[in-house]
Amino acid sequence: MRLSQFHLHTSKEIPADAEIVSHKLMLKAGMIRKLASGLYTWTPLGLRVLRKVERAVREEMDAAGAIEMLMPSVQPKELWEETGRWEKFGGQLLKIRDRKEAWYCYGPTHEEVVTDFARNELSSYKQLPVCFYQVQTKFRDEIRPRFGVMRAREFLMKDAYSFHLGDADLDRQYRVMYDAYSRIFSRLGLGFRAVFADTGAIGGSASHEFHVLADSGEDAIAFCDGSDYAANVELAEALAPGARPVASETLRKVETPTQKTCEAVAELLGIGLQRTVKSVALFGNVRDGDAPDQKPGFVLALVRGDHSVNEIKLAKLDGMADYRLATEAEILEHLGGAPGFLGPVAPKQPITVIADRSVAAMADFVVGANETGYHLAGVNWGRDLPEPAVVADIRNVVEGDPSPDGKGTLAIARGIEVGHIFQLGRKYAEAMGCTVLDDSGKAATPTMGCYGIGVSRIVAAAIEQNHDDNGIAWPEAMAPWQVAVCVINPKKDAAVAEAAEALYRELAAAGLEVVLDDRGLRPGAMFADIELIGIPHRVVVSERGLAAGTFEYRQRRAEAAENLDRAALGQRLG
Ligand code: ATP
Ligand code: MG
Ligand code: MG
Ligand code: MG
Repeated sequence: MRLSQFHLHTSKEIPADAEIVSHKLMLKAGMIRKLASGLYTWTPLGLRVLRKVERAVREEMDAAGAIEMLMPSVQPKELWEETGRWEKFGGQLLKIRDRKEAWYCYGPTHEEVVTDFARNELSSYKQLPVCFYQVQTKFRDEIRPRFGVMRAREFLMKDAYSFHLGDADLDRQYRVMYDAYSRIFSRLGLGFRAVFADTGAIGGSASHEFHVLADSGEDAIAFCDGSDYAANVELAEALAPGARPVASETLRKVETPTQKTCEAVAELLGIGLQRTVKSVALFGNVRDGDAPDQKPGFVLALVRGDHSVNEIKLAKLDGMADYRLATEAEILEHLGGAPGFLGPVAPKQPITVIADRSVAAMADFVVGANETGYHLAGVNWGRDLPEPAVVADIRNVVEGDPSPDGKGTLAIARGIEVGHIFQLGRKYAEAMGCTVLDDSGKAATPTMGCYGIGVSRIVAAAIEQNHDDNGIAWPEAMAPWQVAVCVINPKKDAAVAEAAEALYRELAAAGLEVVLDDRGLRPGAMFADIELIGIPHRVVVSERGLAAGTFEYRQRRAEAAENLDRAALGQRLG
């Protein structure tokens, strides 16, 4: 590729709305452009990197025996009603209507579609096990899209789904995928960690997340120094010593006209929760008339294990201009100074608690919201909600806590979730009537696994781990090109231009991905661009070098450049 014929559009300005380094650098390097909230165009430069990730993912999926297919991104409502997720998935599901007034969603995930495919396609145990995958665009109407492609609304995912006759075979496949994921992230040159995870809205029994370790990560991960125990803190907290696991089945759904709003609030606050909340969450809804200038909305009290109010947040919804997080004092003021509203929370009944571990679990559980005007103080246990069966002393997990496996103490780090694998079990196959005939000719419901990778998120996550003051420093496997040949003064000096052209051709012929910077920029500007976009190897062709029979070579992370003859250069570039 010749840069003069490419579309490279870098900028020196630090974008004002970008908070984290990957978002800033992707904009400065001109890899992505924002179209609207959570919607990004991948520029030609960005796309080269995205494709590198896709390629690694595809090759490892193929090697692991998964079979590629492609499902539609627009999915009919009827399928989602079969699994109950049309309602349950909550506000992230983008619902759309066609000219015949039929409802569809833009797929946030594909369990329904693949199970529909399977029930039509699979009829015999002989077709099992099978694992299908696709690399495809998803849409989730995230409440707070942010950090560029890191938490976008439209994003690229690799999702795989496997079907098995028995649990043991699912176990086997799960391990195959676990290993494939480990290979993908290693080969992309990322520092990562696999952790036990909650199964969230997708459901199922076993689950691991793969996290790229970075301080900007939205998740906290607890590791044991004396063993290989590692868990998302959301889960580690629920399973901390002294706490009993909270089974999601016990978090019953209370049907209410305001359910949707509650779900939206849960989702909204869930994002904040992951960062700040450490123990217990209680919902209360605010009714008109609770206070003189009361606006309808929802209040969430975050209560510590000792029942003292830790933090309160206020969500403004339903026609309100915006939402924001508020302090307890602000909320009390907003409520017209009615301090008795939520606190002090000293329940006579044991509190039914929800670990702040899963937005989905929280959305299923809305205290006292089954009648307009009810809030926590008004909950009638046993009528509004089942007697609290789940009473867990959920508590903070902090650095130095004993590890649940008893083998050491916990350290805490931050991570970016780039992959997630689940053993789904028979939930989807059962709901959708997917069966195959087993070897005795009886209908059997297959058990399923599902395996996701955030292909586009990986690009941002990699930058979080690989950058310096001058820009991105791609791991070899993700770089848009491996080598940049920079020409000094090509327009003035034909000999230099020719030598650069020859080197460019030779390197390309040797199988390297090489880009020729023949734009004729001043050296400073040219080098700044090449560093910013993170090319691992830079070779400068100049008049002085030509005269000395050398090329100036610099590895992206090296302290200084060195002058090498052609043979030595060839060795450096492998
Ligand atoms: P998160 O906890 O970050 O919201 P998730 O648990 O909802 O992610 P999954 O349903 O597990 O996501 O989807 C599989 C993968 O898709 C995730 O591990 C992540 O890498 C990626 N992903 C999910 N949501 C987004 C998003 N909004 N933008 C970019 N990538 C995403
Ligand atoms: Mg999510
Ligand atoms: Mg998650
Ligand atoms: Mg996940």
